[in-house]
Amino acid sequence: MNKIYLDNAATTPLDPAVIDEMVNVLQFNFGNPSSTHSFGQDAKVILEKVRREIADYLRVTPAEIIFTSCGTESNNMILKSSVEHLGVERIITSPLEHKCVAESVLDLKKRKGIEVVYLRPNNHGDLSLEDLEKHLKNSEKKTLVSLMHSNNEIGNLLEIEKVAQLCKENNALFHSDTVQTIAHYDLDFSKIPVDFASCSAHKFHGPKGVGFAFVRKSSGLKGIITGGPQERSLRAGTENVCGIAGMGKALEICMSNLTEFSQKIKDLKAYTIEQFKKEFPGVKFNGRSEEENSLYTVLSVLLPYHNPLIGLQLDMKGIALSQGSACSSGAAKPSMVMMTVLNEDEMENCTPLRVSFSHFTEKNEIDALITALKEIQNAVN
Ligand code: PLP
Repeated sequence: MNKIYLDNAATTPLDPAVIDEMVNVLQFNFGNPSSTHSFGQDAKVILEKVRREIADYLRVTPAEIIFTSCGTESNNMILKSSVEHLGVERIITSPLEHKCVAESVLDLKKRKGIEVVYLRPNNHGDLSLEDLEKHLKNSEKKTLVSLMHSNNEIGNLLEIEKVAQLCKENNALFHSDTVQTIAHYDLDFSKIPVDFASCSAHKFHGPKGVGFAFVRKSSGLKGIITGGPQERSLRAGTENVCGIAGMGKALEICMSNLTEFSQKIKDLKAYTIEQFKKEFPGVKFNGRSEEENSLYTVLSVLLPYHNPLIGLQLDMKGIALSQGSACSSGAAKPSMVMMTVLNEDEMENCTPLRVSFSHFTEKNEIDALITALKEIQNAVN
């Protein structure tokens, strides 16, 4: 059975050129980048080259890129260190954040007594900038705003530049979880005054277990992992040299083909929407998923019938995707995002599905998905 992978918001397959790069580093660059001899210095050269490439992409300085093990670690470090070292007393966030942000914020509330303000999204998953401004203005407490650039379940995009400006005007720090958008958009942080951002290599055909945090130099953030001078003492521990080399290669490939890759995926997403509308009358798309201005790699579908087993049934037919997190990872409860965008009737009588694309996805794989869904539906009826 030829398997089909449509869960690229969860993780992406490695680009073959990334594998080659990593194997090469594993074989020939085993030195510890902190060692002063040539083996160490050769490894250090790899780290600094990738750091420079990332900095050039974001239009920041290399010293502002801190290598970490993943998006989760980057977000934890930024949130926890903002409170511990920068005196943040209040966090403004939303109920739609990824768990690694949501649970870190709750932990800070519990352990450190931080005030937490949740912006209330409408039933499309939109946040109001007026609401944000009102909250920013109504407290003297040192504030960090933490809002994701794109939601991983429904693909809504934040007006990141406007939010960053608002935070700047109101003396608040701004952190954006950019895990779903790094390497998929041209992000210019010389124009977007964000203080902190996060990245995970496995979301753009790089390896798992490596990412970075963008930490604006002027913020003065310190690390939470201690025990060594690596990463300007912001993140102790020997760096994952081959992972970082793989992340650099993956970023280089994505950015040098950005126009071509993004156009291919946008066309594929439009085709998928068209096929769903044609074959499943009554289908809807959650959040802003169907709209032009949403994350182009994600389509959150709402099928007009109830079938909680659909993910499993598709998997048995060799098609992997996520159930829009309504019951993903065996979770009994629908996610906060689904509870926000679906009404009670839709929760009971419909089925969310998240189709997420990469530039390796092909049209015939979408056709196979539609055929499989029809077969499953016919078998039930
Ligand atoms: N933030 C968002 C928006 C994500 O989608 C993910 C991964 O699913 C993460 C953070 C966590 O990244 P990682 O898997 O590298 O820990």
